[in-house]
Amino acid sequence: MTKQDITAINQLLATPKKIVIVSHKNPDGDAIGSSLALFHYLTKTNHLATVIVPNDYPDFLKWIPGQDLILKYDSQKEDSEQKIAEADIIFTLDFNAFHRAGDMVNVLANSQALKIMIDHHQQPDDYAKYTYSDVTMSSTCEMIYNFIEYLDGLPVIDSNIATAIYVGIMTDTGSFRFRSTTSATHRIIANLIDKGADNTFIHNQVFDTNSYNRLQLLGCALSNLKVIPESRAAFITLSQKELQQFDYKKGDTEGFVNYALSLNNVVLAAIFIEDLQQGIIKISLRSKGDFSVNEMSRAHFQGGGHTNAAGGKSDVDIAKTVEKFISILPQYNTALHEA
Ligand code: 5GP
Ligand code: MN
Repeated sequence: MTKQDITAINQLLATPKKIVIVSHKNPDGDAIGSSLALFHYLTKTNHLATVIVPNDYPDFLKWIPGQDLILKYDSQKEDSEQKIAEADIIFTLDFNAFHRAGDMVNVLANSQALKIMIDHHQQPDDYAKYTYSDVTMSSTCEMIYNFIEYLDGLPVIDSNIATAIYVGIMTDTGSFRFRSTTSATHRIIANLIDKGADNTFIHNQVFDTNSYNRLQLLGCALSNLKVIPESRAAFITLSQKELQQFDYKKGDTEGFVNYALSLNNVVLAAIFIEDLQQGIIKISLRSKGDFSVNEMSRAHFQGGGHTNAAGGKSDVDIAKTVEKFISILPQYNTALHEA
């Protein structure tokens, strides 16, 4: 994002605008956090802002201030489309291509509103008038903090904005441990605490509100864990039947794949989750070091993401998906041993 872009956006936001904020399908902490932080910021600076997400998000995010005002496109289509039709500006947050917004792809692509992208995923599409893309950033939330700073808006940050930004940085950095976490990230976190983000409360809301069933499902996932030592890889499977057995709720499998990655001498981890409704296997990939799961997912699993965290899907059944995963590993063995 250039100085000229900032000047232009400042001019644009000098008068009240109708603004829609959209994030990706199956929104996570960074998607919801960045959307709500920007929502509060724009509302406080006299704009009419609406957050629209493609579909529902996990209960552990359903306490962030303002989340009750979020429109869900899949269940509130008419209201959502009206807001998009009326919008002067659409911010697209935490995704790099319209198709990541699921069923919203067409309504976004057809909208005449001025688009502003803020995102940290690799290889962003070129649909926005203004693009703030930085793959070195820990999270879109960290970029929202920077964006507010570029607009000289830091004094506007209150406890609601600070809390929302904190959530996204915390969840996208694995609680401040991934390589994308820098001293600048920690300085921002310190400022957010000063502005009223209650760090203990936030961690508790996100990580210590498990249901008994979720922990039993984790037990099931861990008993399904398999290791492929020659490729320094490990994977977990969860069938729809197993999900049902433990009364699966959205978000329950969040973080499971990290247990596979936590194994000594494992640098690539995957989880394969059966979704009979969509007729797909949803895949999450994680890696240590320089091994790029973004590239692996783009090449084999119709997805993408970051170097160390990516997602994708498969259209064949879970057994065949696992078979495919195992069959492609040998071509990566050198890279996996260097990682
Ligand atoms: P997760 O495995 O937690 O769903 O996602 C890990 C990362 O990959 C996130 O940054 C997410 O946005 C991205 N991601 C997840 N699923 C997909 C997908 O199907 N396509 C692409 N391009 N990125 C994905
Ligand atoms: Mn993110």
